[in-house]
Amino acid sequence: MTLSLTDSPAFSWKFLESYLRRYDVHAARHLELLGEVRSRLEAFDLGRNADRAASFLCDKDVSREGEAAAGSGRLAAAANMAEELERLRYQLLNERAAALGEEDLRATEELDRIYARLVDRRTPDGRRARRLLWNPDFARDAVERLEQSLDPALPLEALTASARRLTEEHFAPESGDRPGKGGRHRVLLYAPLYLSNYCVNGCVYCHFRFDNPMPRIHLSPERAVEEAEYLVARGMRHILLVAGDYPQLTGIDYYVSVVDALRRRFAGQWTVEIAAQSTASYARLAAAGVLGVTLYQETYDLSRYAVLHPRGPKTRFDRRLETLERAAEAGIRRLGLGILLGLAPAAEDARTLVRHALYLRQRFPHCTLAVSLPRLHRPPEGFAVPHPVDDATLVRLYCGLRHALPDAELVLSTRETASLRDYLAGVCVTQLSAGSSTAPGGYGDRAAGRAAAGGEQFPVNDERPVEEAAQALRRQGLAVVWESA
Ligand code: SF4
Repeated sequence: MTLSLTDSPAFSWKFLESYLRRYDVHAARHLELLGEVRSRLEAFDLGRNADRAASFLCDKDVSREGEAAAGSGRLAAAANMAEELERLRYQLLNERAAALGEEDLRATEELDRIYARLVDRRTPDGRRARRLLWNPDFARDAVERLEQSLDPALPLEALTASARRLTEEHFAPESGDRPGKGGRHRVLLYAPLYLSNYCVNGCVYCHFRFDNPMPRIHLSPERAVEEAEYLVARGMRHILLVAGDYPQLTGIDYYVSVVDALRRRFAGQWTVEIAAQSTASYARLAAAGVLGVTLYQETYDLSRYAVLHPRGPKTRFDRRLETLERAAEAGIRRLGLGILLGLAPAAEDARTLVRHALYLRQRFPHCTLAVSLPRLHRPPEGFAVPHPVDDATLVRLYCGLRHALPDAELVLSTRETASLRDYLAGVCVTQLSAGSSTAPGGYGDRAAGRAAAGGEQFPVNDERPVEEAAQALRRQGLAVVWESA
């Protein structure tokens, strides 16, 4: 099934007005907004007249000076309208989630088409994840390849051999710090840098959740630079900035100032794993030099998602679901997605994950996809992992992803043991974190020889220093690289 293009320049204003009157508790304000947007679009044909209007929201090439210059008059007004329209769309998706039907999908897709026109969005397709990710006809072949990999009747040796072949076909290095032997693939080593463990959300499986008594730490940009110094001294060039969701401390201005400070001091590749942002905020991150955004849906099972995420902004399933689309529309080039194994039946979630990846691939063919299957090991007290996944199933799932998504980066963290990580790196994983601390300030503690202050997000099971992890990969003939192409 292919995605349909935004097919008609005519918008269904009457339908939207009627829909809002019936379902929107803030209909009065939003009807007014719709009127303003309509006048705006009718007054200026944004695309044809090259009036860039709010396009700076979605154009990574526009500098922040340009953005500042645009921050007045009608351009700012269009940008504000676009942001309000985006918020309205998610409000409707959130409020109608339990009974989302064809009419709701039509209304939210129509709002997306209007939004796209308002911001002069460059990608031809609209946001349609809700319609496609649970459609068994979408990405059917890839999902079948995943399912075949999970079939216990298929011997593990045959499965891993074919996953290895596919990985070598797509990831044999052209260069690296040590070229692979006999066509072995390359593995990128990266490190997380935790900025803050304050969080307003209540994800029941996470040590950072708001009501878990633990040391809370928030790094200034200067301390983030100190943490990065520790990592860079150990060869790291690709660093993932991680933080909980605490709007007063970790707003977009904070992230931009951290990235600015890091980029002034180090060359390198900076990616983020932070709370879901608006398209406009992702545009600021892209302009600041952020290469990638990672955000896991955790589970695609809507009813389980609601139980597992009882509080905070993360309760909004659909806003989270479309996060990577907002990031890509804003100019981010590397998209990281995944599920947290243990929360829901793994095969079911993995099927939807594959559809999600292929949906993103269709909308954003220029982006690199990086897919991960983090597994819950030792959750906070009081939470029992409802759907544990054993090692053999984890291996089958990773091989299944390789068969379904042959050219996607597959990522594995230090949640897993050294031996399992080395094994999976030899089969199909192409990106490994190494030498990780999952607490803000954790590298500074190590550098000073201090005991960790606590505040980790999850326990690390592979505690090898970076160089030891790299040597283990080289012994398998794999090429270790420190930056992605
Ligand atoms: S999973 Fe993320 S959003 Fe949820 S409590 Fe942990 S840090 Fe906060």
